[in-house]
Amino acid sequence: MVIVGGGPASAIQLHAGGVPAEDILVISDRWGTGMDFMAEASLQSYVEELAIDGGDPFPEITADGLQPSAREYGAFVRRTLLSSGATLAEARIGEISRNGDLFELQISAAGSGSGVVRAEQVVLATGSRPRRPPTAWAESGALTFDLIYQMPPSRRRSLLGGRSVVVVGSGNSAMQTAALVAPLASDTLILATRYQGMFPFETLDRFAWRSHSALTCELVVKSAQSCRDSASSVTCVRFLVYRSLSLTETGLEMEYTEEDNTNILGSRSLPGRCRHATGRKLPAGGWSERRSSTDVVVIWATGSEPVYPPSQLLEGIDKDVRGSIHCDSSGRTDVPGLYLVGACSGRRSVNEMQPALAASVKSIR
Ligand SMILES: Cc1cc2nc3c(=O)[nH]c(=O)nc-3n(C[C@H](O)[C@H](O)[C@H](O)COP(=O)(O)OP(=O)(O)OC[C@H]3O[C@@H](n4cnc5c(N)ncnc54)[C@H](O)[C@@H]3O)c2cc1C
Repeated sequence: MVIVGGGPASAIQLHAGGVPAEDILVISDRWGTGMDFMAEASLQSYVEELAIDGGDPFPEITADGLQPSAREYGAFVRRTLLSSGATLAEARIGEISRNGDLFELQISAAGSGSGVVRAEQVVLATGSRPRRPPTAWAESGALTFDLIYQMPPSRRRSLLGGRSVVVVGSGNSAMQTAALVAPLASDTLILATRYQGMFPFETLDRFAWRSHSALTCELVVKSAQSCRDSASSVTCVRFLVYRSLSLTETGLEMEYTEEDNTNILGSRSLPGRCRHATGRKLPAGGWSERRSSTDVVVIWATGSEPVYPPSQLLEGIDKDVRGSIHCDSSGRTDVPGLYLVGACSGRRSVNEMQPALAASVKSIR
């Protein structure tokens, strides 16, 4: 068996997939998780929700604290993989094809060229990545939120200092990115498609806003007053459910209505609240607000999309609207012997992940 990927899904597959570790080759272009770019920022999940071994209720991920940082969790996943007993190879997988009963995987490794690996069964644990902005937005300079996290603080300051920031998206990533950039920007506007609500006060959906997003909610309400009352510049964060967002010759334009923004954040972000809320009343109702391309930085934070090796075999398989290849609850795809686990199979968090229950493989010895 070959597992492709070096994140938590790969470790869960190794640990609980029922195939002896010594019969498994794990190939990944790096060892660590898709959250690594958050570095010292805390994850939303609690330690016990991030276990690789379900039988270990309090895994040693962080020395203290309820929620580990992304760096601590990445180190834990690497330790788990390295001590698993499987063979690990650091390389990138490209084309995956069938040759008789076997899969052939094209591999390329920095410094040692390329080659082919053959396997009876392949488990893809290749994760997800932040969704890219549409081409026109990318060409106009919109950045994905992971790039903002990855920048050295000095670069972040020079890019955002004194500029107007528009964060497109309304999940936890968007809310946390807004809090990260707010102290630098002249004003920060979160453009949401809906008001998600705080878990557990307003909703029991645990994928709604979690504890770290509460800071952003507080900044919106607090700055509704402090930005209006202060003559000098203070942190200003607004949150609006928007109807439309378009690129214009000079920048961007968004439209929103009062009826979509009766929630506690939207109602405090409408025109009239402070000097940054410059909406122009539309004849049909609602407001239009503009930003000039010279003053604005747009950050795309609209969720994640699955990652798969660039392979014709995979491109030919049916996918759902989010771009995930169809698989059943055991990770089986329509291609016999090909399995998906973790984020690339549509799982949103580590504690939703199950190993693929592969049929037993022939021993390699
Ligand atoms: C900002 C953010 C915060 C998050 N916070 C949480 C949280 O608090 N709790 C939680 O449970 N989940 C969280 N998630 C979701 C999280 O990403 C997943 O739960 C987890 O990382 C998914 O694990 P995975 O192993 O499926 O994929 P990943 O962790 O993404 O790992 C995929 C691995 O595959 C490798 N790979 C990909 N393609 C190839 C290839 N072609 N060849 C070789 N190797 C390849 C990658 O290098 C990587 O090592 C968060 C996600 C984001 C973006």
